[in-house]
Amino acid sequence: MESNFAQILNELETRQPGGLDYTLVSRNDIDPEEHWPRHFKQSGKPDSFLMFKPANAEEVSYILKLANELRFQVSVVGGRSNVVGSFDGGPTVYISTEKFNDIAPLERVTSQITVGSGVYGGDLLSTLEKWGFELGQYPQSLFISTVGGWINTRATGSVSTYYGGIEEAVVGIEAVLATGEIIKATPSARTPGGLDLIRMLIGSEGSIAVITSVTLKVHRKLSTSMTSMAFDSYRDAVDAQRQLVQGGFPVGLLRAYNVAETKHILHSLPNAPTGDFALLTFSMIAPGESLSAVTGEAAASSLVWEAGLSQMMPLMAGLSTVTSAKP
Ligand SMILES: Cc1cc2nc3c(=O)[nH]c(=O)nc-3n(C[C@H](O)[C@H](O)[C@H](O)COP(=O)(O)OP(=O)(O)OC[C@H]3O[C@@H](n4cnc5c(N)ncnc54)[C@H](O)[C@@H]3O)c2cc1C
Repeated sequence: MESNFAQILNELETRQPGGLDYTLVSRNDIDPEEHWPRHFKQSGKPDSFLMFKPANAEEVSYILKLANELRFQVSVVGGRSNVVGSFDGGPTVYISTEKFNDIAPLERVTSQITVGSGVYGGDLLSTLEKWGFELGQYPQSLFISTVGGWINTRATGSVSTYYGGIEEAVVGIEAVLATGEIIKATPSARTPGGLDLIRMLIGSEGSIAVITSVTLKVHRKLSTSMTSMAFDSYRDAVDAQRQLVQGGFPVGLLRAYNVAETKHILHSLPNAPTGDFALLTFSMIAPGESLSAVTGEAAASSLVWEAGLSQMMPLMAGLSTVTSAKP
């Protein structure tokens, strides 16, 4: 065992007998496919790292105060899915948020939910769906990343044109500063004045505080339509994309593919048309009663036609809802 780990654990045992949950992870325990401990694997030392598993903000505070006193560096890990090397060159003592996995009941009056920072996106999604709600955050890493990780990396997802990124969803936070002080930003309609604590923590990559619990604004699940259109060129598709958004339509997903990408995508779809065109795919999010009207209006909008639409794409069975022809 690394000598500084022994000192840390001895101190803990003395001050808090039966103390905190932790694991010593040795080099041999690490899955060779795991990329987050890249630095640890490449540097060849030390042989192990110490992973604390606190169960509440007070325990996090305790670890951070000890870190200050014994002068050891500590970092936070959530789902460890980040791809920008935020753990490279980092410490050998970590705080895992895996025990911060509570999901409180939905507050229907305020459309808010309070969750532990270690809750995985997929678990939150399936819980909210049972109540007919959604968060509106769909990063591709939904099932392998946590709410705390999203906040600290300012994550965003595939329907952010409608819901915005995670920064739009957070209305309250409980966190522990590097000093060990526990701080809270209680949910409010908006910050009345002064510095906005929540905004300061978003995107901070764990450098300011360990986030332990979060209150999120959620949404009643609305109906969604998907529409695909073909354009003569990528530039035309991007023009249409811009005009859909500037036209004020409730666009969720919005993707334009150039000719080469379009060919690649359609190649795998049965009965897909062939040819040289750029594909625009978008979703509309609206109450069921108005969805088809809104979608039809968007697709038939002169803005889109002016952008150079060459043909509708009734091709993606189950995806395309709009079949009107060019006027
Ligand atoms: C296949 C794949 C697809 C991806 N798709 C997307 C995407 O569509 N959109 C997107 O935005 N990102 C995407 N990412 C990147 C990654 O998923 C996000 O950065 C995610 O938000 C990280 O969350 P995590 O729980 O894995 O955090 P980690 O990787 O564990 O940590 C990320 C950073 O946040 C800090 N941190 C984590 N939890 C806390 C906490 N509770 N308090 C303080 N600091 C904390 C860590 O110290 C670290 O600096 C993708 C990654 C992969 C591997």
